[in-house]
Amino acid sequence: MTLTGKRALVTGASRGIGAAIAKALAAEGADVAITYEKSADSAAKVVDAIKATGRKAVAIQADSADVAAVRASIDKTVAELGGLDILVNNAGILRLGGLNDIALGDIDALLDVNVRSPIVASKAALPHLGKGGRIITIGSYFADRVPSPVLGVYAASKSALIAFTKALARELGPRDVTVNLVQPGSIDTDMNPASGSTAESLKQFMALGRFGAPEDIANAVAFLASAKAKYVTGSTLTVDGGANA
Ligand code: NDP
Repeated sequence: MTLTGKRALVTGASRGIGAAIAKALAAEGADVAITYEKSADSAAKVVDAIKATGRKAVAIQADSADVAAVRASIDKTVAELGGLDILVNNAGILRLGGLNDIALGDIDALLDVNVRSPIVASKAALPHLGKGGRIITIGSYFADRVPSPVLGVYAASKSALIAFTKALARELGPRDVTVNLVQPGSIDTDMNPASGSTAESLKQFMALGRFGAPEDIANAVAFLASAKAKYVTGSTLTVDGGANA
């Protein structure tokens, strides 16, 4: 196990990619806190699954759009787990619409959850991260290639994370804390089901011709969280089945 003794917080981990990341970090020996917005039952199941492996786990209700809740989730993680070594900014939302159609409320929600929340959570985590600490954020392959106009604001929110990751890697390098971005391709979750109406057109882009599983992203995050990735920082790891190849 590569993460024995580490304490992690994974945001938005009641379902989908976040739940897989939380379980993968626990499988490598980490104690794990997760946040969720609404799905208390699903979050409790993730916690139970992690506890069944012998690791500590706690679910924290925290709306990523709420700055105070984001800050409080860091404090609660530190109180429950005794510290924080790994922050995974995973919580994210998808709202579609071209610029002419998208509502201001959707623009605000995308920026609040997908951009401000990782920044605020990372800032709140700073005092707690020691040597070997990790910040890993989940972006999107649509930050690099935007195949539809309805993705504009979502893609903009995810591309902001590339620059943020690079700057924070430079800020935290002297402390031996690494900062990286994982950009998933189309992964089979509630957000983007492999059986959804856009699935066939999305598959046309993919070298591998199939959707990924949440575990495909979780494995990349577990690697970046481990000491094996100690010289990887300021980087973007795209895990998209070759969709942007
Ligand atoms: P899902 O919609 O399947 O799950 C989202 C998770 O985030 C849930 O646990 C949800 O909690 C939580 N969440 C959503 N909004 C908030 C909020 N405001 N506050 C706190 N938690 C919140 O998404 P995915 O697992 O597919 O996506 C995870 C990340 O991966 C996102 O950042 C997404 O943008 C990114 N991504 C996903 C891709 C895909 O194809 N699936 C492709 C590229 C990037 P609750 O259950 O309580 O609602």
